[in-house]
Amino acid sequence: MAKSLLKKRTKIVATISDRNCEPQFLARLYEAGMDVVRINSAHLDAGGVRKIVSNVRSVSDRIAILLDTKGPEIRTTVCDEPIPFMKGEKVKVAGNADAKTTHGVINVNYCDIARYVPEGAFILIDDGELEIKITGREGKVLTGRIENDGTLGSRKTVNIPQVRINLPSVSERDLTFIDLAVELDIQFIAHSFVRSKEDVLAVQRLLDKRSSDIKIIAKIENQQGVDNLEEIMDHSYGIMVARGDLAIEVPYERIPGIQRNIIARCIEKRKPVIVATQMLHSMITNPRPTRAEVSDVANAVYSQTDALMLSGETAMGRFPVEAVKTMARIAAEVEMEKEQYVEMPAGSLSGPVSAYLAKVAVKTSIRVKAMVILADTVNGTSIRNMAAFRGINPVIAHCYSHGTMRELALSYGVIPVFVEKKMSADEFINTAIRELLSRNTLRKNDIVVVLAGNFSRGTGFSFIEVGTVDYLRERAGITEKELMA
Ligand code: PEP
Repeated sequence: MAKSLLKKRTKIVATISDRNCEPQFLARLYEAGMDVVRINSAHLDAGGVRKIVSNVRSVSDRIAILLDTKGPEIRTTVCDEPIPFMKGEKVKVAGNADAKTTHGVINVNYCDIARYVPEGAFILIDDGELEIKITGREGKVLTGRIENDGTLGSRKTVNIPQVRINLPSVSERDLTFIDLAVELDIQFIAHSFVRSKEDVLAVQRLLDKRSSDIKIIAKIENQQGVDNLEEIMDHSYGIMVARGDLAIEVPYERIPGIQRNIIARCIEKRKPVIVATQMLHSMITNPRPTRAEVSDVANAVYSQTDALMLSGETAMGRFPVEAVKTMARIAAEVEMEKEQYVEMPAGSLSGPVSAYLAKVAVKTSIRVKAMVILADTVNGTSIRNMAAFRGINPVIAHCYSHGTMRELALSYGVIPVFVEKKMSADEFINTAIRELLSRNTLRKNDIVVVLAGNFSRGTGFSFIEVGTVDYLRERAGITEKELMA
């Protein structure tokens, strides 16, 4: 049996902080199975982002980078020192970004808060550590009651479940980071708290103005995002199930169902999907995951997600490399036994011929027990189309731009490689077979499926060729002697 070309087909996104981003460390994570680096702009300045990007690029040009914005987010203001609150205490909440938070008044950075939060609503601060029930309003100030003992520090997150807040889609801070992402040629912007297509379109307009082809990943982390999933998907490149905030904004028992539904809809729409937050949370301090975490990672893989994400585990945890290895091991194990093909219509991302051939290629590769699918791509569309069927065989995607190569790092089962543009199908097959043979993992009689065609028109594939490694080598005019040399 030939060696598998991929350790795991599910991709891993790892969050990296500027305090721990040395190239040697990143190289170990990459070797362990990290495919995409996530930079969380909420915790960094521009210098930190530049440092991470430069170090990632020094490790490999195949690692994609995803910059996470803060989005329309409310936070408390600074306080001089942590403030203890007791259950039952009365408190005021006001929208005054310039005023400090005190025991008497919790100030937040959103001036209109009192207009939108009705009596009876709950305000959850610091991921739900402190809960306030709103009991009334005095002019522009909300009055409320503390629901649990807790301590409040500076600049903590504020969630107001089920309440629609009219914040702008993109903050001033987000804008600076979007400009930086464009300057640094980052692949993805993960926009936080996407509520409707308008939030995505606002970021898209900024990117269009800057002639940038950065792809937008919409983070679904509140009820509005869940309700408007279809229109959000229509305007985004991909989706992140951002379970951290989602589990505060909607009742947490609904998260597994929401996650399964988002993954299924993304597969149907050929949108890359990432499952995020607390997947191996205990590994921030422990070298081994809990049983529940192992099951959580496995369930996301059984649901056929494109990617899994690590946050604190790799950004500031004690066992970052172990966390990536653990995730990769669980994914690889589940991939061996889960369903190996998602039955669905051929789709319409690329032209109808190309879309149908992509489906046939995946099916054929499973039926004839092929080892790999070889294909080329201009912008990645037909490869993502193929990845959506979640076949068993890796797809080696020959990309004619570094950007497309890195984008495909997020797609299930795809091994993207960069090659110079080919002018004919024969030239493509020649290059693809040489690249495959250079990996030294396949044997002469292993079967390979090749998808190619339509070279200069960008309309996707126009033919499939199936053969053994040896047959394709001969067909490409490569002699055995030449290979030995
Ligand atoms: C989340 O809430 O799950 C998430 C990924 O976003 P952040 O880490 O920015 O809170």
